[in-house]
Amino acid sequence: MDRRTFLSSFAAVCAVGPIAPARAAQDGLTTLSDGSFALPVNMLSSSAEPAQLRDALAAAGLSQTEHRNPLNVSVLTRGDEVVIFDCGAGANFMDGAGKLAANLAAAGIAPEKVKHVLFTHAHPDHLWGALDDFGTPAFPEATYHIAAAERDFWMSADVFSQMPEDRQAFAAGAQRNIKELTSVLKTFKPGAEIVSGVSAFDTRGHTPGHVSFEVKLGSDTMLVLGDALTHPVISFQHPDWRGGFDQEPDRAIATRRVLLDKLASEQTKIVGYHLPNGGMGRVEKSGSAYRFVPAA
Ligand SMILES: [Zn+2]
Repeated sequence: MDRRTFLSSFAAVCAVGPIAPARAAQDGLTTLSDGSFALPVNMLSSSAEPAQLRDALAAAGLSQTEHRNPLNVSVLTRGDEVVIFDCGAGANFMDGAGKLAANLAAAGIAPEKVKHVLFTHAHPDHLWGALDDFGTPAFPEATYHIAAAERDFWMSADVFSQMPEDRQAFAAGAQRNIKELTSVLKTFKPGAEIVSGVSAFDTRGHTPGHVSFEVKLGSDTMLVLGDALTHPVISFQHPDWRGGFDQEPDRAIATRRVLLDKLASEQTKIVGYHLPNGGMGRVEKSGSAYRFVPAA
């Protein structure tokens, strides 16, 4: 795969004019890939009938057995300042993930240039890339930001009892990463402006403190969704199906419903961490539900 496959951007928000150093990142919001990993499709929803699920995927021309889950890290570049949204999965989560560091390097962004890391939530594929192979922060000059409710959920004594057997590692990994980041980790509440022009937007449900980020870029606004909408068909066409990885499934359904309605009526540009082709696009109404329209 070449870099174009990994890197996508809205032309409208990119700087005009020549790029001086050959590999310098342009101003604007782009996504860089942390790779992808495979999921059996039956993990996509805990409530859909298997046949319903297969039919929905087949109708969209997608595999009925395996879902290839891409990982799109949003990268906001403004002059010398680089802000990233989530950190990728690091080396210890799944085969095929953990490629953010290499793709940042290919884009000419040294780890020291990243000044802020904003977490949508603390699942492994978003958080575990925060530490390098030595267990120290992967972005040594960065301040890390997480919603207080999200930190409190994962650091609570009873978090293990709230996770199914096969996700105990999610909690152990969250605790390890959050502890190691303590001295550089700040908490915020939804509604707060975290860095200039970037505000947190409450989208809890996928996890108890999940947020999305509203990014103002000139006259443009984009919403970095994290995992508020995770699948290009299921999250949009079947928002009422329980998500396979939603910690609070009913809350997540309510959040999707409100969010999709708002995004469709406002025609907001969105970036989904797990949406295809770099994750950028917008939402349209479609029958009694919605559809994802990838950016051209
Ligand atoms: Zn995720």
